[in-house]
Amino acid sequence: MTALKVLILGGTTEAAALADLLAGDIRFDTTLSLAGRTQTPRRFPIPTRVGGFGGADGLAVHLREQQIDVVVDATHPFAAVISQNALIAAQSACVPLLAIRRPPWLLTADDRWTCVATMPDAVTALGVNASNVLLTIGRQDLVPFLEAQQHCYVIRSVDPPAMASLPPRAKIILARGPFDADSERRLLQEHAIDILVTKNAGGTATVAKLTAARQLRLPVIMIDRPAKPDVPAVTTASDAIRQLERLHAQSSGTPRGL
Ligand code: NAP
Repeated sequence: MTALKVLILGGTTEAAALADLLAGDIRFDTTLSLAGRTQTPRRFPIPTRVGGFGGADGLAVHLREQQIDVVVDATHPFAAVISQNALIAAQSACVPLLAIRRPPWLLTADDRWTCVATMPDAVTALGVNASNVLLTIGRQDLVPFLEAQQHCYVIRSVDPPAMASLPPRAKIILARGPFDADSERRLLQEHAIDILVTKNAGGTATVAKLTAARQLRLPVIMIDRPAKPDVPAVTTASDAIRQLERLHAQSSGTPRGL
């Protein structure tokens, strides 16, 4: 039996779940690729490579050199560049591409969301009056908030943000999800938060902040997702496994399309 060579583009809960599910499965020879943004990523039970490929061309070269049979784009909904590169590279190397696309969070009747398209739009939506703002947007996108220094920011991220990206008086909370609604409500109350800013990441690991904001009737600035390429997609790691099993059964060494 020939193992199917799988490359997972990761950095998400779904990629980690897929790595866990594929570990030890002799039908698959899987590598997880991480961009290298997180200082202390968790350990994975499959081979892991870290760092960019050098654009779509570099990724296409990697796919050919490593004789990858299928690429799984399990990157974050806001990681738009790598998904576009994955499409171009997979087409160029004639390799099937499957995406795991986590559904977005949806507005409910009790939510007070203002949806915006970009981070600068989120800054504008905060308004001119000083507020206590909880930013849960990661540490890479903080610079636009330097333009609105009237607010007091509480910034939660997995790794410490760069000092140069921090508005004055910003408080940093280092934490990695999952979070629950009780602790999120306590966080909002302890810091007297007036408004929450978040990307529409979707998923369960960080959704509790929205539950807590709803319970406290707090407004939320919700940053909409960037466009991702339209490719064959599933929503969970388990669904991805079923697609990979199908490919493996078809392949006998030469996979066809998804
Ligand atoms: P991006 O803007 O889409 O990609 C920028 C560059 O980073 C890509 O061109 C590629 O470099 C490299 N890269 C991205 N993902 C990679 C991967 N899985 N393996 C190898 N190289 C990768 O990505 P991003 O928004 O900076 O996100 C980076 C990583 O963090 C992604 O893996 C994503 O899943 C994860 N993440 C992102 C967010 C977010 O809010 N953006 C949140 C949580 C996790 P080359 O062009 O050199 O190949």
